[in-house]
Amino acid sequence: MDERRKVIFDQETEEDSVYNLSLRPAAVDEFIGQKNVVDNLLVAITAARQRREPVEHILFSGPPGLGKTSLANIVAHEMGAHITITSGPAIDRAGDLIGILTNLGEGDILFIDEIHRLSKVVEEFLYPAMENFKIDFVVDKGPYAKTINFNLKPFTLIGATTRSGLLAAPLRNRFGIFFHLEFYGPEELSEIIARSAKKLNILIDDEATEMIARRARGTPRIANRLLRRARDFAQVKTPEGKITAEVAAESMRTIGIDDNGLDAIDRKLLHVLHSHYNGGPVGVETLAATLNEEVDTLVDVIEPYLLKIGFLKRTPRGRELTDISVKHISGSSRHDLHQKL
Ligand code: ADP
Repeated sequence: MDERRKVIFDQETEEDSVYNLSLRPAAVDEFIGQKNVVDNLLVAITAARQRREPVEHILFSGPPGLGKTSLANIVAHEMGAHITITSGPAIDRAGDLIGILTNLGEGDILFIDEIHRLSKVVEEFLYPAMENFKIDFVVDKGPYAKTINFNLKPFTLIGATTRSGLLAAPLRNRFGIFFHLEFYGPEELSEIIARSAKKLNILIDDEATEMIARRARGTPRIANRLLRRARDFAQVKTPEGKITAEVAAESMRTIGIDDNGLDAIDRKLLHVLHSHYNGGPVGVETLAATLNEEVDTLVDVIEPYLLKIGFLKRTPRGRELTDISVKHISGSSRHDLHQKL
């Protein structure tokens, strides 16, 4: 995957995980925005602490990079609890899940990212574990088969999903608390960028901060990545290494991010819808095949922001361009569009 695509598409790059250690908000007062979610979460945490019980199971949903993992860590921090982090695709077999569950201590937190990707078999082991802190499993086969009941210590499951709609109803219903994370506004993203810059000792002025914030697709993870790209640019191209508006604009231009924060693949999607499908509607599978993308990438990563800024419409008959996006496309000449792609 080339550098341009990495900024928006990668869920978590190695570079992110190194930086996230220092950039990930550790405590609730470092978590910017999502006020409603944070307020409600704090009530649940305080009440659970007063009752000396683990917090109820929590489900976070929303596009990648909006802070679901960070919030799970914050819940652990506020509860003084140990957190075990895993993900749906990482738990291959029921045995893996049983191993994880039986190792949890009282009040521990188990965070399962991409929980909608758990296999059915594994998922069914979770139901009694979530409900009664028990697991039943069968050992041996035929006449020797025995069911063993195992009591677990009370724990909190925190699930994260980019698409809560894909979660089976029995799993969804076993979560006591459900939060949907929304895209961040430019002021919140500016605050996040300013805070990250301070932590990483990056020199940046207010105008550049706002410019990056406006092009970060409402997503803190992308804001931090754009900041790091701009820092590289400033370091190599300017004598004092400071990110000014000019440096920020130039660095984003080189990685193909336009004034709306759209990148090559967003523009390609709009262009394909416009020129191949007459503005739509077109089914998501067809669109994904034309773009040579996975349907999941299209639905989880690319579409949500285009829907949010009103560039795309989801209808029962498929995806459609809107008046705004048609205007946007017609505004750029065909030549420009191809250049930008
Ligand atoms: P998700 O789990 O939803 O994909 P993460 O919690 O991994 O998102 O967030 C990605 C990165 O974005 C974090 O490591 C952190 O640097 C930054 N981040 C996310 N939300 C916030 C926030 N509300 N305030 C500050 N930084 C944030």
